[in-house]
Amino acid sequence: MTTKIFLINCSSSVRKAVELNYPELVLCDDSSSFDGGVVLESIDRLDFDLEALVATNQNTSLVELQNNDKGFALDKMGKLTSLDSQKLYVDSFYHIGAYRLMDRDSLTHLKDVKDTFSALIGATGSREFSRSEFKKALFLDRDGILNHDGGYLFEFEKMSFYDEITESLKLFKAHGYDIFVITNQSGIARGYYTEDDVRELHKKMRAHFEKLGVVISAFYHSCHHPEKGVENYKANSFTRKPYPGMVSMAMREFPITLVDSVMIGDKKSDQLMAFPGTTFHMKRQYDLSNSSAQIFENYEELKMFLASKFFKGQN
Ligand SMILES: [Mg+2]
Repeated sequence: MTTKIFLINCSSSVRKAVELNYPELVLCDDSSSFDGGVVLESIDRLDFDLEALVATNQNTSLVELQNNDKGFALDKMGKLTSLDSQKLYVDSFYHIGAYRLMDRDSLTHLKDVKDTFSALIGATGSREFSRSEFKKALFLDRDGILNHDGGYLFEFEKMSFYDEITESLKLFKAHGYDIFVITNQSGIARGYYTEDDVRELHKKMRAHFEKLGVVISAFYHSCHHPEKGVENYKANSFTRKPYPGMVSMAMREFPITLVDSVMIGDKKSDQLMAFPGTTFHMKRQYDLSNSSAQIFENYEELKMFLASKFFKGQN
């Protein structure tokens, strides 16, 4: 039996390797006719319309090719499989019909949860996590959530913080969440500032919140923009929200139980694709009329909701 797979972003040598080594796989160039999944050389940067592809193909699955440190797989967007007994990353990404090429000679068919999970988590350079280490995560957008959105900010001195978020963050901490910041920084793509500027800023922001009693485990930024950008920064990156690439980056370094996790942001794009956790929106200057997340006017309201409803009955 043959399976038709569709290769995207793959170099000709990878294509050749698949053709030579996997006669059961038929490569097709037409994205509407594959049935086995989509195989990518890298999904850090995309050069196609992922949403359109997923919308028209029920079997879509995305899989990393090659030994790089950016691999992750993604299930059919928005069609999540929940496994009651395994509240793990896999819940959102589990799928049948995905492949992973470890090197030029070994293509792995990820046929069950265990395979998928270890392929996703056990990537080059990251250690395997034991079950008991997994924790819930609170993912925070940065601008408009931790600080007032001043537009392309990169200097700590020019930042004005929403320190009143601190009490809500402490509630999350007390209920076992690790905190991460995931931020689209197209200012890097546009050449307004550098990645080093952003790292430096995040170091200072981390110290700021630590002084207020809140430890932020890590900051992740996406430097790309699909239309605006110099050189390699102009790209439709999987790291750019609403794609969940930065969540995957965090999951490379921290054992995270994704289904129990929470995302807080102020834009529609903060509702991450394929995110199986809970999303909260803070009402700022952006249009949230199509948001399916719960919307809060301010942090007092969020804190009250957390204390009186969300954490009620949790440990
Ligand atoms: Mg924002």
